[in-house]
Amino acid sequence: MQKHEIAIVGAGPCGSLLAFLLADAGRDVVLLEKSRHPRNKPCGGGITPKTREFIPVAWDNSVEDECRRASLCYHRTVELEWAEPVCYMVQRSRFDEFLCATARGAGAALWEDTSVRSVEKERNHVTLHTERGPVLANLVVGADGAHSRVGAGMRRVRRYAFAAVTEVCPEPSRMEASRGKISVDFSVIPGGYGWIFPKGDHLNVGVYTVYPQAASIAAHLDRYLEKQGFGEALQTNRRGFPIPLRTESDQTVARDRVLLVGDAAALADPLTGEGVHAGCWSALLAAEAILKNSGNYGAAVSGYERLMGQKIWPQLRESDRLASVFYRYLHHAMSYLEKRPELAREFWHAVFLGQQEKLRLLPILGRILAGLVRREV
Ligand SMILES: Cc1cc2nc3c(=O)[nH]c(=O)nc-3n(C[C@H](O)[C@H](O)[C@H](O)COP(=O)(O)OP(=O)(O)OC[C@H]3O[C@@H](n4cnc5c(N)ncnc54)[C@H](O)[C@@H]3O)c2cc1C
Repeated sequence: MQKHEIAIVGAGPCGSLLAFLLADAGRDVVLLEKSRHPRNKPCGGGITPKTREFIPVAWDNSVEDECRRASLCYHRTVELEWAEPVCYMVQRSRFDEFLCATARGAGAALWEDTSVRSVEKERNHVTLHTERGPVLANLVVGADGAHSRVGAGMRRVRRYAFAAVTEVCPEPSRMEASRGKISVDFSVIPGGYGWIFPKGDHLNVGVYTVYPQAASIAAHLDRYLEKQGFGEALQTNRRGFPIPLRTESDQTVARDRVLLVGDAAALADPLTGEGVHAGCWSALLAAEAILKNSGNYGAAVSGYERLMGQKIWPQLRESDRLASVFYRYLHHAMSYLEKRPELAREFWHAVFLGQQEKLRLLPILGRILAGLVRREV
């Protein structure tokens, strides 16, 4: 039987980042991953600048494009530009492989092709049952994504957004015109948007909705692709996947000797579906709680819950309110923003750069809604 101090289930960005931080601090960590890198994860691969500070190693080699321009469409298209990048484009297969290799380089043990089937909590340790035999750990972290096996017995209430994505190889002139620019279209799906993100040799095209029950995601992706003139022959690698969102009634992220980070803890931003930012942030907070309470796993668990309550939940609560107002009044909000490109620039800048600035979003939205009441649309 294998024994480690800390076992992390899932070598996506959140699990690998946490493994790196703990191994780098000299802790005995094993990463258990059911597939093998480089593996494909359905994702837009848009990493916002606010996420950058959470990744303490240079990851520029994984960046395929830096976007300073955005084309936003609803009734009509508005072109926006910023001095600095508002989104970095990565291909998740390469980005995730790089972060996992970084964790290994810092000393984390890695077991790939190892699926965790069940979790057994005992008084002084946790046993993970895997297809390669049991693994014993003092502390377990579930970083196993949207369908978390580790979180299955912990979180009672589930709520999901949904996104579907495909890769498109257009003619070279279209590819060239798309470089350095994100295209977002709010007219293609209720409660969400369609996107085109430039990667090195292809475009990542997808649709996201926070109301998955109201929208057939595949049909909306088809319509968006058709609107953009991308025929079936240009597309490969089409996939859909849920994005877990927090609920007010169940924000469980830790119990006994088990913590959850990233999608396993349901941390995506409901406005955009962005999950890597809060996911990496949760990995940082988990590392902080574990390292501060060396060997005291009960204190690490409660420390992590406290940090989440102080830092991440208030932001996600704010994002939830923002998303429900924004998508409910989408027609009015977009009409207002389309006539005021400066306000639109400010709004999207706050979304992409986030954190403290993000708290300014509600006041900006308040200005938009106040304008609507005064019938300035
Ligand atoms: C179509 C789509 C587009 C998106 N676009 C963006 C975007 O542009 N920007 C953004 O920030 N977010 C985006 N997201 C959200 C983002 O993909 C997730 O929030 C992010 O991947 C969460 O990272 P994670 O490390 O928590 O989980 P994951 O990246 O899902 O990694 C979990 C890992 O756990 C492994 N695993 C699962 N079960 C087990 C098991 N039982 N045993 C062992 N290993 C296991 C998996 O193989 C996987 O490697 C998008 C999501 C979707 C669906």
